[in-house]
This record gives sequence, structure tokens and C-alpha cells, in this order.
Amino acid sequence: MGKKTTHKFKAEVSQLLDILVHSLYTNKEIFLRELVSNASDALEKARFKATSDGTEDNVTPEIRVEADKDAGTVTITDTGVGMTRDELMKNIGTIAHSGTAELTRMAAEGKESLDSLIGRFGVGFYSVYMVAEEVTVTTRSMEEGSKAITWTSDGKTDYKLQELDEDLPRGTKIEVKLLEDEKPRFANNAALKTIINKHSNFINFPIYVGEEKVNTVTALWREPKFQIKDEQYAEFYKFLTYDSEDPFDTLHTSVDAPVQFNALMFIPKSDEDPFGMNRDNRGIDLYVRRVLIEKQNKDLLPEYLGFVKGVVDTEDLPLNISRETLQDNVLMRKISSTLVKQVLNHLDKMAKDNAERYDEFWHAHGNLFKAGYMDFFNKEKFANLVRFNSSESEDAKGLTSFADYISRAKEDQKEIYYAYGPSREALGLSPHLEVFRNKGIEVLYLYEPIDEFVMDAVRDYEGYTLTAAEHADMEKLDKFESLVEEEKPEALSDDQQSTLDKLITRIKDVLGDAVTEVKASQRLSNSPVCLSNPDGNVTSSMDKIMRVVSKDNSIPKKVLEINPDHVLVRNMLTIFEQDENDPFIDQAANQLFESALLLEGYLTDPHALVGRVQELLTKSSGWYVDTKK
Ligand code: ADP
Ligand code: MG
Repeated sequence: MGKKTTHKFKAEVSQLLDILVHSLYTNKEIFLRELVSNASDALEKARFKATSDGTEDNVTPEIRVEADKDAGTVTITDTGVGMTRDELMKNIGTIAHSGTAELTRMAAEGKESLDSLIGRFGVGFYSVYMVAEEVTVTTRSMEEGSKAITWTSDGKTDYKLQELDEDLPRGTKIEVKLLEDEKPRFANNAALKTIINKHSNFINFPIYVGEEKVNTVTALWREPKFQIKDEQYAEFYKFLTYDSEDPFDTLHTSVDAPVQFNALMFIPKSDEDPFGMNRDNRGIDLYVRRVLIEKQNKDLLPEYLGFVKGVVDTEDLPLNISRETLQDNVLMRKISSTLVKQVLNHLDKMAKDNAERYDEFWHAHGNLFKAGYMDFFNKEKFANLVRFNSSESEDAKGLTSFADYISRAKEDQKEIYYAYGPSREALGLSPHLEVFRNKGIEVLYLYEPIDEFVMDAVRDYEGYTLTAAEHADMEKLDKFESLVEEEKPEALSDDQQSTLDKLITRIKDVLGDAVTEVKASQRLSNSPVCLSNPDGNVTSSMDKIMRVVSKDNSIPKKVLEINPDHVLVRNMLTIFEQDENDPFIDQAANQLFESALLLEGYLTDPHALVGRVQELLTKSSGWYVDTKK
């Protein structure tokens, strides 16, 4: 016997253990799911190692689970890779997983159930301390000449290690000494069998409880489709993802050319990672002839299809392929491009057959999907599949495709117009869109910065040019009739026109370098002014994104467009006619400019604006009192 040594847990382990032990609302039975899946991982690793080394492995892969009622214990044994002393210390004394801090934070916030967090973040081993008073791990590594070693801990502050002299078979045995309260529930084989059937039915190796084999070791993806019931798909999906809900959609295919593979893929009902905090938790499990080569392989599907979960199994790759060479493997690339096409075609069919269902999909995964604007190989398919809210939608949830837009476009209209804004309400009031509202021309509403990248990448659709509303060519819009009776004031006389030109010059003088130009506008009807971009290339929102990236805080220089038909502008004209130097002109010019900046989200210091508003209100309330007298 080797010497018994005592080791302290790393701080993050203690923290995690504390959360687990005190989480009253967690489904405690999942400890078994975690230990069984570790046993399965160890068996996969052993098989993988044997095949890639080209050695023959004569150990039967299996997992045994056994309760002892009298002793109040549960024991899980596997014939997998086992662990060396170093591995044991590294794997079960510290937490290597980078998601742990994240898990600890999320668990502390209590927003998500710990059950699904444990599964997703892979800190499974420690979940045993929800039911255990003490755990003993006895293991011998598959590595030549390894000695058996035991690890014991009550899961509080430290653990003990001791080397054994006995010549144990390779693999790992985990003895769980149950807490007094948990004994009635877990210290019996019938209960363990039920739990395994519920959570671990699809484990790739036989699991025995007592002498009985309790799982059905089938590679569901290799079974003929017609033999599989929906419930089986759902069960497998839950096993794979730890989702508590059924999948939204299932895609089961078998391909022979250009490369052979079977794929079973799922689309979950909701985005499990809405804030993109755990983007690493994606990928397709890759099997070669039923042997797991890599969990969550990231090369088979691009990031924008990261919502797809599932497995791919191929006959065409060699079993002893190393994970490192997978990335530049030609066959892998063929599988990947076929897989992407299958997913996109599947979505396309859903969109055509059942638009409502597709909308549901879009609301769950659309935001991630939009990143597909970078997939130039599938540009057309992508363009068919993106959706936007639009001025024609009933509410902010309504979705429109480019094809929908075209079907409603006006005769002679060759542009698809879009505008970016913080919300449907804001866009509904935007001065830039007045002309579109008046003429009944649809505008796609963009709420996310990524939407503009989508527009930039797609560029045109079926001969229609994607055009930002703020860059619309007013002459092209002229030909469409206005739908509303616009109460236009009398046209300006020639004299007034030249006074307007002078007024505009005066306003430019007042604003100086803050604007590049002041000009009369044709696009406005209800608003007195708006700001537009001097060069017609980038839109305001793209400009904002670029400024954030380059950390540029200055206020951009824009064109101030003035509506000559607006009452306020006409009043300014009258005042200007009487006295070109009336200070009201200065005040009004500054006020209009700053309000426009405010609307565009560029006003950083509102003090001057507020001061001016108060001064004007004071004056006008005085006049109001006078006229009331
Ligand atoms: P994860 O399985 O996500 O890595 P766990 O906390 O469940 O996290 O396990 C931690 C590590 O302990 C595993 O990655 C593995 O290296 C090791 N381990 C746990 N159980 C076994 C086992 N039965 N056989 C071999 N190694 C194991
Ligand atoms: Mg695990």
C-alpha cells in the first residue's frame, strides 16, 4: 500500500460543491446520469485510444450499477480508460472547464434550473455530493504499467489519495455512500433502473443493474426512418441535449454520394443561449462506424446553424483518424457542405409548406441564423430564408421575406427599402420615412446591427436593389402618388424663394462646422428638419457601428435638410424677411439642429437644448397669457 496523502480542493471546486449541496430544488437523481455518462466517456476514450493505436482491445466495454440496501451505497463500475494519479488529481481535484465561473454565476442568480446547467457545463462528477456522504473512486489507467489508486472525499474541503498494491482490472469504480436521507430512495436496484431508463437509455455501451441489462444499445440514427416513432426521437433528443422539452423539428437523413453518412439532427424549440454566453456549446457529435470520434464537432456545421443539435455517422472516414487532422480532411468538408445544404433545404421547405411554423422557428433562432450572411456559397438560399419586421406587418412580431416584399411592391418599383431603428414605434415616427408612409411604400424595419450587415451582403434580390430609406433617390419616389391629402401651404413666390435661400445660408452660418450643408428637402412632410448623410455610402447606423469600433466619440457631420412647407420654417421665413438679424433665427436654428441630433441618437450634452426650450417656453407662455387676456 502506498502512503495516504491529503489534498485540498481548489477554491472553485469548494464553491461549486457548496452550490450543489445547498441546491434544494435540483432533481437529485441526475447524479446517476452524470456518473453513467462519465463511465460512457471513459469507455469511448478507451475504444478511441485502442483504435488509433491500432492495438487489439480484449476488455469487454460495459457499465455496472449496483445498490447495496444494507450498506446504503450505490456503486458504478466501468471498464474504460481509468485515470493515473496525475489525471485523478487534475480531473477530480480541480475544475478544468472554463464555463464553471459562468455556471456558478448563473446558479447563484437562480434563473436557470441547475439540472440543465450541470449537464451543459460538464461539471457532472461533483453532483454526486447532492446525495453522498462520502465518495470513493478506485481507478487504474489503461496506460502501460499504471498502478491502481483510490481517492476518497466527503466533498467538503479536501480529498485523500492512496496507491494500491492490488492488481485491479483497468477502469474505474465509484462507490457512493449515500446520505441517511437519500438511502430509502436510491439504495435499491429497481429505483436505479428507472433512473437509467429515463436519463441514460441511449448510452452506447451496455449498462447492467445487478445482472440485468437495462438499456437498449442502438444507434438510432442508423435505424430505418419508418421504424422510429416520434417518442423515440424525442427521447434521444433529450438524452443528447438535456433539454426538458421535445424538439421543435427532427431531420433524419441518409446520404450515399458524394460521401456516405447518416445524420440525425434536431432543432430545439427555443434558443438555449439567447445572450450568446455559451457559444461553445454547439456542434454535431461525429461517429465513424458507431464509434464516437468527437463530441460537438464544430466543423460540420457553421456557427450560424449552431442551433442544430445531433449526430453524424460515416463509413468513409478511417476509425483511427486523429481529431487534429479532422479539420483539413476533404471528406469532412464534403460531409459538411452536404449537411449545410440539407439543413437549409429543410428550412426552405418548412417556410414554403407552413409559413407560421417557419415564423416560430425564426423567432427562436433567427438572430443566430442571420450570421449566415457570411456564407457566400449559400447566398441565395440564405436570402430566401431571412425575415424582417416591416411597415406592413401588423405588429413588431410580424415577419416578411424579400419575396413577400416584392409581391407587394408597386409597379415600376425596383428597390427594396429598409431602415434601421431602435423600435417599431421609433421607425413609425422617423422623419426619414415620412415620404414612404405618405406614398404607401413598404419599408423593412431593422432592429439589430447585424441586420445591416445582412443587407450589405445580400445587396439585391430578384432584380430588386436593397436600398436604405435614408439614401433613397427622391426622383425615383416622385413617380409614386401620395396616398394622403397633404395640406400644402401656398407655393413660395420667386421673392420668397430667394429669401429662403438666404435663410438657409444664414442657418448654415449659425451652425458653422457642425453640419456639412443645409438644404431644402423634398422628403419631409410633418417634420421641420432631418439629418442625412453627406456621402451616400454608409447608413447612419452603419456609421454608428464603425464609430463604436474605432472608439470615435465625436458627433458626425451631416446634412441638415429643411422642410420649406412646414409652418415653423414659414414663420422663420416671415421673421427673417422683417429682420435678417433677429436672434430668434439663431435660437431656432440651434434648437432644430440639436433636436434632430437627439432623434438620431447623437446628442451627447442636452444642457444647451434644455436651456433653450425653457427660454422659449417662458417667452411663449408670456405671449399666451397676453392673448388670453
Ligand atoms: P466532464 O465529464 O464534463 O469532463 P465531470 O465532472 O463529469 O466533467 O468529470 C471530470 C473528469 O473526470 C472527466 O473529464 C474525466 O476526465 C474524469 N472522470 C470522471 N469519471 C471518470 C471515469 N469513470 N473514468 C475515467 N475518468 C473519469
Ligand atoms: Mg461528466
